[in-house]
Amino acid sequence: METQKHQVLELEQLTPETFLIHLDRQNFSFKPGQYAILRNPETGEGREYSIYSSDQENRLSFLVREIKDGEFSRYLRHLKVGSQLAVEGPRGFFILDEKSLNGHPLLFIATGTGISPFHSFVQSYRNLNYQVLHGVHFADEAYGIAAFDPDRYLLCTSREEKGDYFGRVSYYLKAHKVDENSICYLCGNSDMIEEVTNILEGYGISPENIRTEVFF
Ligand SMILES: Cc1cc2nc3c(=O)[nH]c(=O)nc-3n(C[C@H](O)[C@H](O)[C@H](O)COP(=O)(O)OP(=O)(O)OC[C@H]3O[C@@H](n4cnc5c(N)ncnc54)[C@H](O)[C@@H]3O)c2cc1C
Repeated sequence: METQKHQVLELEQLTPETFLIHLDRQNFSFKPGQYAILRNPETGEGREYSIYSSDQENRLSFLVREIKDGEFSRYLRHLKVGSQLAVEGPRGFFILDEKSLNGHPLLFIATGTGISPFHSFVQSYRNLNYQVLHGVHFADEAYGIAAFDPDRYLLCTSREEKGDYFGRVSYYLKAHKVDENSICYLCGNSDMIEEVTNILEGYGISPENIRTEVFF
């Protein structure tokens, strides 16, 4: 595991709070679903960010939400094109196993920027048998929606009726049974992960088929 400096190629604003950072990938190698620690090369301060881009791209991209009074996300938001960012990693085990890659039914459940590893999965592996449930407050937070097959993607909006379902992902799951053979991947905040894990276990899904990545 090493740290290397990467050049900032572009900052792409998606909503007033959320943006993509595109870096020069160099020889950074990772498995889709992993994360890296982005660091300020001057101070060494850093935070974890899931990799958004596919393993076949020349750019290494991250989806970041700027947190009010959040020190590091604000620093990232103000990076200049051409400046350097230190990248440490890759890290993590939120990756697809052989069974998941070979046609097994997969359920991807994300809140907010937790869609990032799933974006990397579907951009890296073309034949996944997946369904995505993406929970956001407002419909314009459907980050990266174009990468997903529209028949396999369901947007849950909790603060306006502009998604496919009005309400949180947990409400949707309580009302719609999940096939007990599914392998479920959950990514986002810990409250959602705890609540959804309980619902999925209630449907008879075994703990080893519930895989999680907690952002905060
Ligand atoms: C494995 C892992 C992967 C992560 N991947 C991502 C990612 O792809 N994109 C991303 O934006 N963040 C991601 N995070 C969160 C990220 O590491 C930082 O915590 C976040 O950017 C806030 O840092 P900060 O210094 O700005 O604010 P801090 O002062 O460190 O955090 C302030 C508060 O903001 C809230 N918060 C943190 N992250 C988010 C978020 N993403 N959305 C909404 N509220 C949040 C939490 O309540 C936190 O306590 C990930 C965290 C982990 C552990």
